[in-house]
Amino acid sequence: MSLETTKQQDAQYLMHTYARFPAALVRGENATAWDEDGKAYIDFTSGIGVNALGYADPAWAAAVAKQAGTLQHISNLYLSPVTIETAALLCKVSGMQRVFFANSGAEANEGAIKLARKYGTDHYGERHCKIVTLKNSFHGRTVTTLAATGQDAFHHHFTPFTEGFSYAEPTMESVKAAVDEDTCAVFIELIQGEGGVHPLDPAFIKALRDFCTERDVLLLVDEVQTGIGRTGSFFCYEQYGIKPDVVSAAKALGGGLPIGAVLANEKCADVLGPGDHGSTFGGNPVACAGAQVIIRRVSDPAFLQAVREKGAFLRAALEKLPQIESVRGLGLMLGAKPAVSTPGELAQKCCEAGLLVLTAKDVLRFLPPLTITKEELQKGLAILAHVLQDA
Ligand SMILES: *Cc1c(COP(=O)(O)O)cnc(C)c1O
Repeated sequence: MSLETTKQQDAQYLMHTYARFPAALVRGENATAWDEDGKAYIDFTSGIGVNALGYADPAWAAAVAKQAGTLQHISNLYLSPVTIETAALLCKVSGMQRVFFANSGAEANEGAIKLARKYGTDHYGERHCKIVTLKNSFHGRTVTTLAATGQDAFHHHFTPFTEGFSYAEPTMESVKAAVDEDTCAVFIELIQGEGGVHPLDPAFIKALRDFCTERDVLLLVDEVQTGIGRTGSFFCYEQYGIKPDVVSAAKALGGGLPIGAVLANEKCADVLGPGDHGSTFGGNPVACAGAQVIIRRVSDPAFLQAVREKGAFLRAALEKLPQIESVRGLGLMLGAKPAVSTPGELAQKCCEAGLLVLTAKDVLRFLPPLTITKEELQKGLAILAHVLQDA
C-alpha cells in the first residue's frame, strides 16, 4: 500500500483520536523500524516506553509464540502456573508482597485506586476515600484515572468525573494542605512523564513517605512509565530510597503485549478479597510468558548498569547539542528542551529524516528500547543534530 492509501484508510476506518506521524511501520529489529517502502527509522520511542527489549527480541518472541501454541487463555476461574510464576518474579525483584494483573496502565491505576479506597473505608469508615494526586500528573484515560490526572486540559467533555480527587503541588506544604481526615492515599509519579519529564525532588519524596506512614495514608506510586528498568533500576522508587504501599506497572512489563500490574506491600496485600476486583484478560498466559522474559532480563544488575551507562551517554550527547537548552530525566527516560522551533515540529522533521522521537509539553522526549546499541544511539543523535541545525 502507498503511504497515501494507508493514511486514507486509517482515516476511514479508525476513529480520529490520534494525530499520527506519517510513517506506516511494518517491521523492526531492536531499535530500528522499517516502513512499507523499506525506509529505516531509528527508534527513540519504544512504542512509548513499551518495547523494553526493542522490536522482535528473539527470546521474547519465542516465549510468546510457545505459550500461544500451548495455552493462550483460561480466565481467572482456574489456576495459571505461568501467571503465578510471573507474579512471584515481580514480588522477588520488587520486594512487594502480592500482585493483581490488569491489561494496561490506566487499569492498573484503577486497581490501585480501588485498593486504596477499600483500605480507607475498611479501617476508617465510609467517608475515608479521598485521594490526593499531583498537579501536572498523568494517570490514564479512563474516567477515574482522568479524574486522578492533575491537569485541567484532561477535565473536559466527559463529566461527571469520579469524585474524591484533589491536586497538590509537589511540596510538603501543598500536600499537607490537601490531605484531610478523609484522605486514604496520596498517588504520585516519581518522574512526571507525560507532564514533561519532571523528576520529583528526592527530599520531597522522602518527607512524603514519612508523612504518609505517620498518618496511615497510603502512598501509591504510578510506575507505569518509570518502571521495569526505564530509569536504570527495576523500579524508580529504589533510586528514591523509599518503598511505596502500592505500585502500578504496565508499559514495558509485557515487552509489547498488553499487561498491567498492581503490586501491594504487606500492609495492602489482603485489602482486595474475592469479588472485590477482577479482569477477564488479567494475567493472560501469553502476556505473562512475555513478561517473564522481560522481568528476568531487565532485573539483571549488568543489564540495569548498561541502562544507566547508555542514559548517561545519551544525556551528555544531548547536552552538547547547541540547540538544546536543558536536559532532564533519569536513565533512558529523558526530556530535552529545544531552544529552536517547537518539540512537535522537530519530532515531525525527525520522523521525515528517519528518527522516531516523542514529545511531552516543552521537551523532546526520549524513551528508547533499553537494549538500544551505542551505534543506534549515535545514528539517531546524528539525525537529531541535523534536524536541529536546519531548524
Ligand atoms: C502511559 C501512562 C499511563 C496510562 O497507561 P495506558 O496503558 O495507556 O492505560 C498511566 N500512568 C502513567 C505514568 C503513564 O505514563
